[in-house]
Amino acid sequence: MGKLVVGATVVCTAAVVCGVTVLLMKHRVKNSGEWGKVEALLKDFEEKCATPVEKLKQVADAMTVEMQAGLASEGGSKLKMLISYVDNLPTGDEKGLFYALDLGGTNFRVMRVQLGGKEKRIVKHEVKEVSIPQNVMTGSSSEVLFDFIATALAEFVATEGDDFHLPPGRQRELGFTFSFPVKQLSIASGTLIKWTKGFSIEDVVGQDVVGELAKAMERAGLDVRVAALVNDTVGTLAGGRYNNPDVIAAVILGTGTNAAYVERAHAIPKWHGLLPKSGEMVINMEWGNFRSSHLPVTEYDQNLDIESLNPGEQIYEKIISGMYLGEILRRVLCRMAEEASLFGDYVPSKLKVPFVLRTPDMAAMHHDESADLKVVGNKLKDILEVPNSTLKMRKIVVELCDIITSRGARLSAAGIVGILKKLGRDTFKDGEKQRSVIAVDGALFEHYTKFRNCLKETMKELLGDAADSTVIELSNDGSGVGAALLAASHSQYTDLEES
Ligand code: ADP
Ligand code: MG
Repeated sequence: MGKLVVGATVVCTAAVVCGVTVLLMKHRVKNSGEWGKVEALLKDFEEKCATPVEKLKQVADAMTVEMQAGLASEGGSKLKMLISYVDNLPTGDEKGLFYALDLGGTNFRVMRVQLGGKEKRIVKHEVKEVSIPQNVMTGSSSEVLFDFIATALAEFVATEGDDFHLPPGRQRELGFTFSFPVKQLSIASGTLIKWTKGFSIEDVVGQDVVGELAKAMERAGLDVRVAALVNDTVGTLAGGRYNNPDVIAAVILGTGTNAAYVERAHAIPKWHGLLPKSGEMVINMEWGNFRSSHLPVTEYDQNLDIESLNPGEQIYEKIISGMYLGEILRRVLCRMAEEASLFGDYVPSKLKVPFVLRTPDMAAMHHDESADLKVVGNKLKDILEVPNSTLKMRKIVVELCDIITSRGARLSAAGIVGILKKLGRDTFKDGEKQRSVIAVDGALFEHYTKFRNCLKETMKELLGDAADSTVIELSNDGSGVGAALLAASHSQYTDLEES
């Protein structure tokens, strides 16, 4: 098309009026052909991403089957169904000062909470968020990562005010939320199975993560005991249960995605320990690694996977979670620009940069309600350096956001229904209305309104009548508080409190 414009310009200088007409005509002919292609690519993508109810039911069933297989034996499924060693969720009686440390993905949080028992509940709660430098997430050594965490924690402990009370002579205690697949050896120890979500530090894999943290804390001159090592899903479940006794599962929808739920201990064939008094055990599903032939996977997803840090893994996560939604959008736009001149006769070079389009920006575009899609226009200009996007182009972008986000939200809903099925809570039981509350944490769910609404609507579609007794509840920062609560119930001083 570049050549065509130059040619037309020559005609223009020779006979201005006529030349302009030629240019416009050629432009229109060219445009209609390319828009046809854009629309064909859009339609094809939409079809491949489709998630009709029947398909979602198949996904839910496949989830239930995989859960069973993962509980039956080690390595029995793509779903690891990790035993958390949490067999007693918070009751509300927890008391004292506890710290929590949350290493999840994009951000890392430290917090302290003063727990006041049944009456006073959470007396005071302070959080500090630190972003993790890229060089600490990848390539560096475990020492660099854990020293970074321990230093941030030490700085935070140093700012502890008078509102927090640690009885004299006691050691501070911490719940460590570590949101990666860990094989737990006890409530406060476990080894890293693999990294996910953009982390990659070889020498931590297979290591005892609490041991690594303890060594780093010692190097930082910090005397804190790690009382509980928990996944963020398990922390969210604990935090959710503290607020609402009907919470039976927790789902994370943030950088990555995962879920945990309360299982009957006798229904875990691979559990070879003592049956807990409560009869229950929290299972960290590691559902991000779920895959099934029923998942609608497109060539864009396949390429994203091949070029990722963990090819072949976390397939469900890669079509649902915040780390990837914007990147899927970028890939589709890139192809539309290359093969169908979506943005005119050039391909914006920014479009070729992996992960340049982030999910929060995608959400902002998707939520744009202005008539001329001003927000979309500005994002295209600022991020992709497309200076003059037309309304038509902007509409295509919004449609793509909708396709990608609806697929992710609907598949998340199907996963939750899979858990409800496993627990026999997916159907309405006459006479007895069992309430099931799912605590959800993560910025994708919290801030991406269209994602959240779509997930909730899909639950209704899938559950019918039973939807009335199922509640999807935002549990804001539940995982941090949950980890502190679990540290409290596994405190070295618990026996002292009771006696
Ligand atoms: P983590 O999962 O790392 O513990 P968060 O729960 O804060 O942390 O999730 C962060 C992720 O949520 C980001 O990577 C981003 O993809 C997504 N996110 C953050 N803000 C928004 C937003 N406004 N709209 C959509 N997605 C968002
Ligand atoms: Mg998190």
